[in-house]
Amino acid sequence: MSESDKSSRHRQRMQRKKTVVDSAIAQADQDKGLLLVLTGNGKGKSSSAFGMLARALGHGMQVGVAQFVKGRSDTGEEGFFSRQPGVTWHVLGEGFTWETQNLEQDIATAQRGWETVRTLLRDPAIGLVVLDELTYPLKYGWLELSTVLDDLVARPPMQHVVITGRGAPDALCEAADTVTGLTDIKHAFRAGIRAQPGVDW
Ligand code: ATP
Ligand code: MG
Repeated sequence: MSESDKSSRHRQRMQRKKTVVDSAIAQADQDKGLLLVLTGNGKGKSSSAFGMLARALGHGMQVGVAQFVKGRSDTGEEGFFSRQPGVTWHVLGEGFTWETQNLEQDIATAQRGWETVRTLLRDPAIGLVVLDELTYPLKYGWLELSTVLDDLVARPPMQHVVITGRGAPDALCEAADTVTGLTDIKHAFRAGIRAQPGVDW
């Protein structure tokens, strides 16, 4: 095939592709507050959520963050975002369950935490809410899934919510508009490298 035949076939293929893409874009013509779930064992759940937080702030939106399980108190995301105007930042967890070692306390903390989350989910001025590591209190039964789902359904129609954490329950994924499972293919931790500031926290 001559070079000019190749180039003309490429042009035709791209034209057909453009028609398909343009029509798919034209059909997606609705706006709504999205529920996103970022789950799976791979790295990138919280960092993706905080990437969306930065995007929302870049659009001048007000945002809220609730962190349910707090491994450390000196994360880069908290240090940066909690000082920005338009950010409400709540730390609701008191460390990993194997560190608190007190079930009643964990349940009480999670339920008090959800009361705080409700103030975000009832505020139409907040355009994006990140519920970081929410899957853990759900998994351990410290929070009722049905209560969480009811409050999510009742939120302002244009408010986006991003939920992160491993093992997201099926009913939460069914309720979500976008669900991403991050796959753990390789992680530096298993090669003996500790969590690095700027990458891991
Ligand atoms: P990140 O905050 O980096 O996006 P994540 O939210 O997907 O990670 P978490 O389960 O919340 O993952 O774990 C938080 C910490 O554990 C981060 O320091 C992250 O790099 C590390 N981590 C994530 N996945 C793995 C893994 N598969 N093996 C070891 N460490 C991991
Ligand atoms: Mg995380």
